[in-house]
Amino acid sequence: MSKDIQQAGEERRFLDYAPAPESRDIVRLRPSYGLFIDGDWVDGHGAPFTTIDPSTEAPLAEIAVADEADVALAVAAARRAYDKVWSRMPGAERGKYLFRIARLVQERARELAVAESLDNGKPIKESRDVDVPLVAAWFFYYAGWADKLDYAGLGASPRALGVAGQVIPWNFPLLMLAWKIAPALAAGNTVVLKPAETTPLTALLFADICRQAGLPAGVVNIVTGAGETGRALVRAEVDKVAFTGSTAVGREIAKAIAGTEKRATLELGGKAANIVFDDAPIDQAIEGVVNGIFFNQGHVCCAGSRLLVQESIHDELVDRLKQRLTTLRLGSPLDKNTDIGAINSAEQLERIRRLSELGEAEGAERWSAPCAIPEQGFWFAPTIFTNVSTSSTIAREEIFGPVLSVLTFRTPAEAVAKANNTPYGLSAGIWSDKGSKILAVADRLRAGVIWANTFNRFDPASPFGGYKESGYGREGGRHGLTAYLKAGAR
Ligand code: NAD
Repeated sequence: MSKDIQQAGEERRFLDYAPAPESRDIVRLRPSYGLFIDGDWVDGHGAPFTTIDPSTEAPLAEIAVADEADVALAVAAARRAYDKVWSRMPGAERGKYLFRIARLVQERARELAVAESLDNGKPIKESRDVDVPLVAAWFFYYAGWADKLDYAGLGASPRALGVAGQVIPWNFPLLMLAWKIAPALAAGNTVVLKPAETTPLTALLFADICRQAGLPAGVVNIVTGAGETGRALVRAEVDKVAFTGSTAVGREIAKAIAGTEKRATLELGGKAANIVFDDAPIDQAIEGVVNGIFFNQGHVCCAGSRLLVQESIHDELVDRLKQRLTTLRLGSPLDKNTDIGAINSAEQLERIRRLSELGEAEGAERWSAPCAIPEQGFWFAPTIFTNVSTSSTIAREEIFGPVLSVLTFRTPAEAVAKANNTPYGLSAGIWSDKGSKILAVADRLRAGVIWANTFNRFDPASPFGGYKESGYGREGGRHGLTAYLKAGAR
């Protein structure tokens, strides 16, 4: 460790913040949760499981598991609600429900943020300031679309698809729910949604919000369980499958629905390049790199997990980055000072460890921030790999953790070639003072979302999605709406 970094570590201890824990009293979890079908809580017929707090491994609640018959019941409830109520309701009326849900999310924001941090392990400052406000923004945005579907770009009177089966991952549990449910309902569909098995809580709280909003029974159904429940939902009598998760499961889903009439959007993995040119505003770039890969412990599909830095500034940038990382605080997700929370599960921690060891074995140089790791729970210190070659496993595979692989380039053409040298194509970042360079490089990058002099910015009006193994279809904006619509009869 360089002297500077050691000094920064010592200064950090001197300047340590006192703990500022958010109270968890605002969340009143029930000891057990059933399935939310047809507006009611019902038992599941699979063997229930316990969802835990990944920062302590303490149990939070027992969760029902939906088997194939339970999933069929939920889909039948969604079909009835579609046929009898939701598809007949004027868009302006549907919009009122969505506005009501958005307002309830705002009213219950603190409770939702605490529940999300408890179940997922993400820092409260992120669930409070990013996840939950974006959830409300997504519902507000699509509420506005509900009575304007004629302007979605599909001609006059476009029609809903029917029942959507939606399967989401654990990294942004409530936000991914909002990305799925808000456009589907605005377009006039009903839904059956399956949250990830390690983070079901906020979806179950959301079911309560649907009741509070007076949403007609069956319009939103929540079925909990693991891969088997997701598989049953994909194969059930749904008209559309919306999936966010790993490329491997996305591939399986694409096979399962091939040859059927089911529409699909697949939002899959990523291995984004965050490109820093030598003329970049360096302080901002360092913050952008930190945000790009250490936000949400790197459990972000569009994370800037490959840093491509121009050779002439490599040493300076890496050194300053290491100094910055020594100031990040890893610890309790409910502490308002925490920057790095817990890894979501033992399984994910194992994957991060295995890939990091492989990185070392393949010759990359590993550096981890010197932070104390709590004894209980799942944790991984912010880590940087230098001396990474394009063929290294850690430059190619999605690690989905707080691990950055640093590569270098000399010319813009080389940066573009290296950035595009990946099976994925979800996002990218460019840092430069020169607008013309940014535009020229962005034009050549094969990625669905490109940020310039910023990273990880999300807006409900902006479409999001990938190329290649990052999936197909777009969520967000008008494009996200049309994924739930078909052209009307002419
Ligand atoms: P995962 O694919 O293991 O699981 C995602 C969901 O699919 C879970 O709810 C899971 O229970 C369910 N599932 C598992 N097997 C299934 C099957 N055979 N059929 C149907 N459903 C099944 O992914 P994960 O580990 O929960 O999430 C991490 C992945 O999600 C990463 O690869 C990440 O990049 C990706 N992701 C992508 C986006 C995006 O918008 N592109 C956003 C967030 C996460």
